[in-house]
Amino acid sequence: MKLGKQSIGVGDRFTYQGKAQLKAIMKANEKGLDITPVWNKSNREHIYVGTVPADTRKEADEAVKKLGFKGHYFVDADHINLSTVAKYVEVSDFFTLDVASFIGKESSKEEVDAFVASCSKYRGDLQIPGMEEPLQVTNELLKLIAGKFLAATHHASEIYAYLKKEKGEGNFITEVSMDEVESPQTPVELLFILKMLADKGVPAQTIAPKFTGRFNKGVDYVGDLDQFAREFEEDVLVIDYAVREFGLPEELKLSVHSGSDKFSIYPIMADVILRYDKGLHLKTAGTTWLEEVIGLAVAGGEGLELAKKIYENSYNRQEELCGPYADVIDIDGSMLPSVEEVKGWSSEKFANTLRHIPGHPDYNANFRQLIHVAYKVAAEMGSSYTSLLEKYADVIGSCVEENIYERHLRRLFTI
Ligand SMILES: [Zn+2]
Repeated sequence: MKLGKQSIGVGDRFTYQGKAQLKAIMKANEKGLDITPVWNKSNREHIYVGTVPADTRKEADEAVKKLGFKGHYFVDADHINLSTVAKYVEVSDFFTLDVASFIGKESSKEEVDAFVASCSKYRGDLQIPGMEEPLQVTNELLKLIAGKFLAATHHASEIYAYLKKEKGEGNFITEVSMDEVESPQTPVELLFILKMLADKGVPAQTIAPKFTGRFNKGVDYVGDLDQFAREFEEDVLVIDYAVREFGLPEELKLSVHSGSDKFSIYPIMADVILRYDKGLHLKTAGTTWLEEVIGLAVAGGEGLELAKKIYENSYNRQEELCGPYADVIDIDGSMLPSVEEVKGWSSEKFANTLRHIPGHPDYNANFRQLIHVAYKVAAEMGSSYTSLLEKYADVIGSCVEENIYERHLRRLFTI
């Protein structure tokens, strides 16, 4: 089973927008692209919303059937580990093995020594084709990398072995993710992480490192764009080298867990993958939930009322809602409008404040991030939320489709 060169992960908290998301991807494919859709949903999202993995499978299958989509598509068990993977086995065919929490866990001295010894041919100045400067590989560096990542890659191999037994070899896509950590992995670390995965027989088709900079939820990238560009390009070159050198699957590519809407790095990634003729997997998720709230606001009437209610509840529960996301949001509370003020807003004002159009005078990234983490509030509303998703399906669907196509796919694939 192969993922395909270009692919996009679309998350959908409430599983109502599969068709709108697929429409956007099909629209891009009509322009000559071949983007594989993947519906990703993490265990955390399922728990907060009260959905089960089978719901995502059903959503994907139904969207594909309804729209007559003929390509491959996948359902991604996003950020799973050995303790959470079981319930995804039957319905998922893409598994993101999250080993971030094993980074830095101790490995035995024998394992570290064996790994360092196995890298002897890479010691010294290691020239990766395409890179300006050679990588400086010392014993100390190798020991450090082994100490940091051997346990994590070992955990990946344990989850992979479990999946291979349950689903059969070749019947699923394997991704390894290490993105939910504070410090980024450097290209040289990535190189030896890939060697470890190859040594342990994990046929990763996508790898999600932590990149430099902040990937706050639902808003643009915050960081040094030049540094990101350099690092991203080096990662692509390192992967190319690792595939040939370590015998990893030739389709291995980067997976960018974007946290949605990292518009300023889209053209950088587009340039690199085009220049080297490489593939990319980009995961988005919360951007669709935000479009649901925008769509409700645009619909007016009950829709706008509910959108305001969601803001009111999230404003009053900031600490609780933001807590689990503390590392991936930056909200300046003084920039949040008061509940009273928002009560007086028109559809247009609410939608423009929330919709991600950088530079729009009404756009407020603080407001947007707070609503991003507030899907729990909507989940608690139960059918009073989902019945309005049904009632206003057309207007919400067109917001979702326009967002994925115009703001994401067009920027990322230079359409
Ligand atoms: Zn992630």
